[in-house]
Amino acid sequence: MSEEFYYDLVVVGGGPAGSSAAFAAAKNGIKVALIEKENTIAETVRTSGVTWIQNIKEFGIPDNCFNPIKNFSFCSPKNQVTISDTIPRAAVLDVRKTYRWLAKEAEKCGADVFVKTNIKNAIKNKNGDIVGVEGIGPNGKITFNSKVVIDASGFPSTVCKAMEFAPQWERFGAGAEYEVKAENVDSDTWWLMVGQEYSPAGYAWIFPLGDNIVRIGVGVGKPESNVDPTQRLKEIIEKKLGPIKKLGKLTELEFHYGLIPNDGLSRKTVFNNLILVGDSAGQANPLVLEGIRYAIKFGRVAGKVASKAIIDGNTDEKSLYPYEENWRKDIESKINSAGKVQDRWIGLTDDEWDKELDIIKELKSEEFIDFIKADFGLSNMLKLATHHPKLAVRQLFNLVKGKK
Ligand SMILES: Cc1cc2nc3c(=O)[nH]c(=O)nc-3n(C[C@H](O)[C@H](O)[C@H](O)COP(=O)(O)OP(=O)(O)OC[C@H]3O[C@@H](n4cnc5c(N)ncnc54)[C@H](O)[C@@H]3O)c2cc1C
Repeated sequence: MSEEFYYDLVVVGGGPAGSSAAFAAAKNGIKVALIEKENTIAETVRTSGVTWIQNIKEFGIPDNCFNPIKNFSFCSPKNQVTISDTIPRAAVLDVRKTYRWLAKEAEKCGADVFVKTNIKNAIKNKNGDIVGVEGIGPNGKITFNSKVVIDASGFPSTVCKAMEFAPQWERFGAGAEYEVKAENVDSDTWWLMVGQEYSPAGYAWIFPLGDNIVRIGVGVGKPESNVDPTQRLKEIIEKKLGPIKKLGKLTELEFHYGLIPNDGLSRKTVFNNLILVGDSAGQANPLVLEGIRYAIKFGRVAGKVASKAIIDGNTDEKSLYPYEENWRKDIESKINSAGKVQDRWIGLTDDEWDKELDIIKELKSEEFIDFIKADFGLSNMLKLATHHPKLAVRQLFNLVKGKK
């Protein structure tokens, strides 16, 4: 059997970017389809789910969707630092609960959610512009005609590739993670673990979710290293390396695996009748490969701009451009600066990491958070680069500003 539908807007991908785009567009009163290939929203978890309390509040994510974090521990082979705060500024999300809440919000505003629907092709008009998508749904072939398509399919960027607008990502992060029940967990404290034994081009982590559950993971930069993150994760758990030892007995609950683009902001993200958002647009902070808050924030912007263009009756590239202008203004310079710090971090030896942690030790909690979030406001950075009491910190922030 084949089915055919007509919508104002079709959003491909029911992750944080897609659900947020569908929410904002449906709220503006247009007819929206949100399409997810898996059996349910967030069936497969591909992320560690760390984000920031300030953004959680801004998005209205309910309190039962996250575990707050107020201590930030870093360890290298021979060094360790914990930056403690009086209030929690970070959080580890219950990813399924959060992503399902985001999709529900879209549904409540009137978006139709299609699951088990795998989009494979773009439908083009005679000018070569996209006018819909098609794929396989629960009942066979399925076709969606629409005025605008939003590609929120994440790393695979299905629609963008079907339109031949961009090749596959060349530089990306690959991450593997076990969600485990552990004997001893400090649920206020996260760990980032750096050095060759944890990851030759990346880092390992322990992120607590509350109730003695933690996510232990390894991320590896590609093509910089050919290490398999799953293999490396098994090795560091078996060796009980660093802070993993303190967790005591571990009982595996789930395994997660995912890829995240790290090519910088290399893609154009608006075309006639088409917007790319989230990982499909490469909108991630490269320092710690963090993209959930950008996916939600710019998903909402994409939905708003697309719905306005549809209501105004013109959906060409120029009419959709305010979306690209919005996100570039917000994050382009920050992401570029974060890329410079990441390039430095990827090349560090174990000894150099030990010394780098001495620099990180000098940061106040807010400075550390701004740094790791790549929230490099220029006046902040100027202040730190010129007035911080420690020379090494000044040099680190000069790097962010672009000086040698
Ligand atoms: C190992 C790892 C750890 C990470 N940790 C963090 C972290 O701690 N904090 C953070 O902020 N970010 C983290 N990230 C990044 C973060 O997960 C992404 O930036 C974020 O998920 C991007 O959201 P998205 O909606 O663009 O894409 P996704 O979350 O990937 O969602 C895309 C959705 O589209 C669906 N889809 C794909 N193709 C099709 C198709 N053809 N048809 C229909 N549906 C389709 C998928 O099933 C999926 O549901 C991590 C990434 C990895 C790989």
